[in-house]
Amino acid sequence: MLDNPSEKDVVLVQKAYDFAKKAHEGELRLSGDPYFNHLFATAKNIAELGMRAETVAAGFLHDCMEDGKATAEEIKKEFGEGILSLVEGVTKLGKIRYQGTTRYNENLRKLFMAMSQDIRVLIIKLCDRLHNIQTLQYVPKEKQIRIAKETLEIYAPLAYRLGIKKLQRSLEDLAFTYVYPKKSEEIKKILKEKRGQVEKHLDKFQKSLKRELAKNSITNFHIDYRVKSLYSLYRKMQKYDENAENIYDISALRITVPEVADCYKILGIIHASWRPLPNRIKDYIASPKLNGYKSIHTTIFTGDGGIIEVQIRTEDMHKEAEYGIASHLSYKEGKLTGWIKELLEYQKEAGNEFVSEIKNDFFKERIFVFTPKGDVIDLPKGSSVIDFAFAIHTDIGAHMSSAKVNGKMVTITSILDSGDRVEIETKKSAKPSAKWLPFCKTTMAKRRINNFLENKK
Ligand code: MN
Repeated sequence: MLDNPSEKDVVLVQKAYDFAKKAHEGELRLSGDPYFNHLFATAKNIAELGMRAETVAAGFLHDCMEDGKATAEEIKKEFGEGILSLVEGVTKLGKIRYQGTTRYNENLRKLFMAMSQDIRVLIIKLCDRLHNIQTLQYVPKEKQIRIAKETLEIYAPLAYRLGIKKLQRSLEDLAFTYVYPKKSEEIKKILKEKRGQVEKHLDKFQKSLKRELAKNSITNFHIDYRVKSLYSLYRKMQKYDENAENIYDISALRITVPEVADCYKILGIIHASWRPLPNRIKDYIASPKLNGYKSIHTTIFTGDGGIIEVQIRTEDMHKEAEYGIASHLSYKEGKLTGWIKELLEYQKEAGNEFVSEIKNDFFKERIFVFTPKGDVIDLPKGSSVIDFAFAIHTDIGAHMSSAKVNGKMVTITSILDSGDRVEIETKKSAKPSAKWLPFCKTTMAKRRINNFLENKK
């Protein structure tokens, strides 16, 4: 599966395969399949993105710490520090709980990015989720909806942000059928109806296009077409009053060429022969999308009453459009030091604002801590247990008596770190004190304490 694997790569992946098989022996999935099938599928998804042996191996091992099948020491001893940190990263992400409220979705996505530390952790998690959603029919009904919603609202957007279109599409289309079963049936029907008609039209146009290109001595190119995925058509239809007739890019013709200059040449040839629709020419080569996407799009009248969107890009751009950041990591992975550094480099090339947003204020200004249930609480950096308690509920803050952070007793004035799990004990007799004030970072906690002190007077 790997491109040109070295002998070392093969040995490593084989070893992870054997280790996972043994660790999960006798364990079954809800489908009744051996649990190992899930690990194999996850590792395969990772390899198909072109990731290197270390990440594929971690894919085999990603669940063995979660279920206590293996200890950190064992993994470190057998596979080294690097793979251990990938497996630990995935295990940590598994503890973040989706709340089901859109208000927190953006924070949750940022949290996933931040907690991943290494972008490969996120890629493993996305590949893990892909197999889970592929086998969702075996999961109890009420859990199905939660997992599918979480996939649509958290995982697929993350895949989009990393520019991994291939993963995004699969995650979205599968989750869509669980979250909106009726809508997805409708869209499937529309696509099916349109498909035949659209393909015939594309085929006819393709022939005249090839003739035009030949006249201009352009012979080195590749033409294919893509049909919009279920979920993206659904979203587009929401934008256009649910009317599929108003959507011109249900299908698009795609031309790939070796050089950037060829892209513009072909655009010129097309516009000289067919009239473009106004305001539908998009040069994402000159100004790439935020996730790094590059291509030229134009929509033209084909002269027979039809309209077609044409996308023109180089082969490299095409690879990037499908595999996103994974296509960068696959050959740089060995040298990957910090994911931020890597992402920033990528951002420079791609103009990815989301990443700089994370880097600039997210890490500097905020921390994310967990309730015992795994809910995420977002606080300013430097916040203490007192801030946390008031952020959960005024009564919890007002009657807090003691606290545990990551299972250990601490003083309530302790400063929290991202990823901490905080438990608050309350007592009816406990009351806020003026001594707490210097340890409050949030205005909310200060105000609540002051209110209490004033009322007491
Ligand atoms: Mn898993």
